[in-house]
Amino acid sequence: MLQIEGIKLELDEDESLLRQKAAAVLRVPAGEILELKIFRKAVDAREGVRFVYTLRSVVKDEARVLRRCRNKAVAAAAETPYQLPPPVSPPELPPVVVGAGPGGLFCALALARCGARPILLERGWNVERRQEDVERFWQTGELNPQSNVQFGEGGAGAFSDGKLNTGTRDPRHRFILETLVAHGAPECILYDAKPHVGTDYLRCVLAGLRRELTELGCDIRFGHRLTGLEQSAGRLCALQVEGPAGPCRLPASAAILALGNSARDTFEMLHAAGVPMEPKPLAVGVRIEHRQADIDLAQYKALAGHPRLPAASYKLSCHLDNGRGVFSFCVCPGGQVVAAASEPDRAVTNGMSLFARDGVNCNGGLLCSVTPEDFPGGPLAGIAFQRELEARAFAAGGGNFAAPAQRAEDFLLRRPSAGPGKVLPTYRPGVKWSNLWDVLPDFLCQSIAQALPVLDRKVRGYASPDAVLTAVETRSSCPLRILRDQQGESRLQGLWPCGEGAGYAGGIMSAAADGLRTAEQVLRTL
Ligand SMILES: Cc1cc2nc3c(=O)[nH]c(=O)nc-3n(C[C@H](O)[C@H](O)[C@H](O)COP(=O)(O)OP(=O)(O)OC[C@H]3O[C@@H](n4cnc5c(N)ncnc54)[C@H](O)[C@@H]3O)c2cc1C
Repeated sequence: MLQIEGIKLELDEDESLLRQKAAAVLRVPAGEILELKIFRKAVDAREGVRFVYTLRSVVKDEARVLRRCRNKAVAAAAETPYQLPPPVSPPELPPVVVGAGPGGLFCALALARCGARPILLERGWNVERRQEDVERFWQTGELNPQSNVQFGEGGAGAFSDGKLNTGTRDPRHRFILETLVAHGAPECILYDAKPHVGTDYLRCVLAGLRRELTELGCDIRFGHRLTGLEQSAGRLCALQVEGPAGPCRLPASAAILALGNSARDTFEMLHAAGVPMEPKPLAVGVRIEHRQADIDLAQYKALAGHPRLPAASYKLSCHLDNGRGVFSFCVCPGGQVVAAASEPDRAVTNGMSLFARDGVNCNGGLLCSVTPEDFPGGPLAGIAFQRELEARAFAAGGGNFAAPAQRAEDFLLRRPSAGPGKVLPTYRPGVKWSNLWDVLPDFLCQSIAQALPVLDRKVRGYASPDAVLTAVETRSSCPLRILRDQQGESRLQGLWPCGEGAGYAGGIMSAAADGLRTAEQVLRTL
């Protein structure tokens, strides 16, 4: 198979032209192309706006075609598909995966496909029941601390934009995308340069994954929370679990901790049990909302609104004199800002969107880097720091999970906002117009205020007067790392820290890849 890079199509050109263009590059008649598929598709908006494709093609006499075409853009396609480890016999004590986010689900899937028949514990409910809990929370402010935007089947990624891009190359990524497609995700995620599935598809994918896991003998227990560990001579021997029928003891010699970044009670328990961990840098800030049409205009200029163009996104960063980085995070074109709290009396924002990304607004995190020097005091100090910000935002919102919000112009002039301009905030259960300088720490407001005009020079209108800042975003990553050795195991043997909560991933794809990696390591020991 040959790979052809850099094939361009103008916005009004049809994809049926790709065959002709590929034939021209390969210098063969179009009829000699036996198979042609899109391997990657990107929007290039640097000079004008066009699509750029990487194609994979099967031709007759490949070696001769490659020699003759003498084109650097053509090469033999190198493909090393990911392979799961060889099967094992089901162990006497099944491995227990704690957490059904992307990390835990892909870990359980690999274990189950290899015959290890794992148990999967998840404190929240399945995605159908969880959806009802989340919808009630957004409508009424009534929070279920075990079943919410952070907790439940699918983990933190279930109510998200479902961005699936990564900054790294790993054969596991293709396996993850193919698994998602096999369970109902749109096929374009296999080749889009910036793939995303949206919350709507994620829900049915999760139900499909659950079906496969169950068929493979994985024992999925929703509503079951890990509350304690039993160890003997430095080895795990049992888990204490709180389930719908009350507390129970689960003998276990291998437990994969795929807890996500919001399992604060569990981190406290692990710390008290002597599991080694260390503090880690994170980023906090606000969600910033614009009208999608304005972002499209800034990115696509005269072509904004073209029906073949996706809702535009952006990726911004700057480094400030105070040594801090300020950057955009998890941008959700055509999406909405969501209430993402998991604890009472603490307000948290994040963003999500549907596959169509057809909402009126575009929102993104506007975050500022913080380090353990900002929250001295050991591995749990970062959690205290996050809680403090969330409690301030909750109080400023007036209770019931309304979030404090401010227009960008008012923020820059340090005066309270009285109401929205042309950007209407999407956060539910609602915002309270405020002065964020009275809510957030000074270093954070100053950093955001310095960054806004700088970032506006990169995407025109980013700091427009009516852009809405909604506080506070604190769950961008985990403020601690649960230490593991080269083989992936904690010093407390039998514990396998995994995914974002353990500090080894950031985002859906890297958490899922870490889940697979951890399963490979556990399988080696079975
Ligand atoms: C609103 C929102 C939007 C996001 N959008 C994107 C995006 O578009 N793209 C992207 O790449 N990332 C996104 N993220 C981040 C992404 O969701 C996470 O990086 C990813 O889910 C981390 O995976 P994980 O498996 O490590 O942890 P999680 O997904 O957090 O899963 C951990 C699971 O463990 C469970 N758990 C915790 N403690 C216990 C316990 N004691 N017992 C039993 N179960 C427990 C939790 O209930 C949870 O289900 C978003 C996050 C949020 C909140």
